[in-house]
Amino acid sequence: NVVAVECRRDPAAGVPRLGATPGLPDAAYEHDGQLTKRHVRAATLCALAPAPGELLWDIGGGSGSIGIEWMRTHPSCRAVAIERVPERAGRISRNAAALGVPALRVVVGAAPTALDGLPAPDAVFIGGGLTAPGLLDAAWAALAPGGRLVVNTVTLESEAVLAERYRRHGGELVKLAVAHAVPVGGFTGWRQAMPVTQWSVTK
Ligand code: SAH
Repeated sequence: NVVAVECRRDPAAGVPRLGATPGLPDAAYEHDGQLTKRHVRAATLCALAPAPGELLWDIGGGSGSIGIEWMRTHPSCRAVAIERVPERAGRISRNAAALGVPALRVVVGAAPTALDGLPAPDAVFIGGGLTAPGLLDAAWAALAPGGRLVVNTVTLESEAVLAERYRRHGGELVKLAVAHAVPVGGFTGWRQAMPVTQWSVTK
């Protein structure tokens, strides 16, 4: 399925080549800026560690990239993206179809309420809504022992939440700071992206 999508892409048309591993180019996605950027996305999928047949909840789906790249790792991988903004939910479905995983399920609604009744996940990613009351507890409660939780944030308020959970549950707390080389006059300098704090833990 994914291979068929790649074959239709014409390199001469300037469409980015899509590899098999997570960390697709940002340009592969239709997005409004709400997109986990390539290098952080690759590290996030690495922490989520998808295996064949597993189900991911992608809470705060945005453009859908985490659920999409989870599903691209194996044809039997499944994902549900939960997104409260209807316009973005539509975008997630378009990206999923364009990137070879049309079976990605999209739930339009705000977590934690929108999580009610979903099939139990093997892993949960939280990319938005972390400060919504009860969201983190609901995500944690949905996981069976051995399930993985990965949370990314760029805000101090959410980082404080993660620091507290890290003290309580352990896992790994990392800060990912990516900079891109850009023109500075006739020279080249680093443009720093907002650092992303990532907590990953196995229940
Ligand atoms: N990982 C995404 C980007 C996430 S941006 C990607 O790579 O495309 C964060 C998203 O979380 C936004 O689209 C925002 O609308 C959504 N969001 C915030 N709070 C939410 C909540 N409580 N429930 C569902 N979605 C939420």
